[in-house]
Amino acid sequence: MVAGGHEQVVFVTDESVGLRAIIAVHSTALGPSLGGIRFWHYPDEEHALVDVLRLSEAMSLKAAAAGLHQGGGKAVVLWDDPARPRDQAFLRVLGRAVDELGGRYIAAEDVGATPADMNGIALETPWVTGVDGPGGSGDPSPVTAVGVLAAMRAVARKLDGAPSLAGKRVVVQGAGHVGSHLVRLLVEAGASVGVADVQPAPVEELVRAQGIDALECETVLDQPCDILAPCALGAVLDRATIPRLRCRAVAGAANNQLLDAATDEALAERGILYAPDFVANAGGIINIAEEFTGYDRGRALERTAAIEDTMSRVFALARELGVPPGHAAEEMARRRIADEGAGRRWRPGDPAAWTNGAPLRSLRPGAAPAQAV
Ligand code: NAD
Repeated sequence: MVAGGHEQVVFVTDESVGLRAIIAVHSTALGPSLGGIRFWHYPDEEHALVDVLRLSEAMSLKAAAAGLHQGGGKAVVLWDDPARPRDQAFLRVLGRAVDELGGRYIAAEDVGATPADMNGIALETPWVTGVDGPGGSGDPSPVTAVGVLAAMRAVARKLDGAPSLAGKRVVVQGAGHVGSHLVRLLVEAGASVGVADVQPAPVEELVRAQGIDALECETVLDQPCDILAPCALGAVLDRATIPRLRCRAVAGAANNQLLDAATDEALAERGILYAPDFVANAGGIINIAEEFTGYDRGRALERTAAIEDTMSRVFALARELGVPPGHAAEEMARRRIADEGAGRRWRPGDPAAWTNGAPLRSLRPGAAPAQAV
């Protein structure tokens, strides 16, 4: 905790429902911490702890770089089979654990979680996003795709002096929720698009509806193109794959695209421009943060479009500091936390100015307004 600068880590167990969870609040310097709940089969508690510490810190950086008045937090639940659904008694206990933090941690969906989980948690606490129904922000993927497109416009400007994607060749790895929306936006923007997915159906659909090229998964990283967009898995860029790349830039939605910090340097050495993933894919968190101000899709999209400007600032800072863009993005986020949030910690009852400029609202239908209003 000291090394990572974490404010608070809470272990939660309840034998009666079989709950074992850890909630980590990395930082509330910019506002209440926001981050997903991950249901995962961890081999032991130590692995879960390492994961929640790492993920909550990453959320602080993502929120800070996105300009949100939100901190970083995360919860992990030790769960034998991520596909096995949770019952209501279990979710209520988890919801009470979230509630006890009084808004210092706001839950959202992450790997293994579903809107049904969020609904169950919302029975016990207003401090949860991603619920189905009134006030919920729904599927974030289309907004995430808009943000990735905005990041690509900044990339195009850096590469060729203009943000237009018309005539650019873009290769998308993964035609899932974000990838398929991104392909449509790219076609609209006049790009030439190729896409690969391990599942043939979504690719066939995009080929039929959008007239794009289907690519093989095994060779998708070897394709000559202007921009490679990883929209499937993490850690796709490492010592083995970087020498194979024939793109001018990498900009995609996948989390943790780089195996480690050294990969950022390896890309720069090859002259490949890297648009840091946590800046490019922030549309999802920007969308969820909107729930606190009374969800408005138009405003979420508008704020997400600002990723273009944020990414340009990252590239400018990288140049100024003489570091690769991944390092620069992290530095930009840490500077904002240190300057704007200097020494602050959000406490239940703190003024709403700590949120995105408007009172916090309860998302639980019929529930009393959250204490922080
Ligand atoms: P998804 O599961 O809907 O899509 C992923 C797609 O990648 C699937 O269609 C899968 O078949 C495909 N895939 C898996 N392995 C592949 C491989 N080796 N080669 C090619 N395709 C492969 O997920 P998503 O919601 O679209 O998210 C994509 C990525 O973006 C993830 O890393 C996710 O963490 C990240 N992300 C998503 C959001 C969001 O709003 N959904 C927000 C931020 C970050």
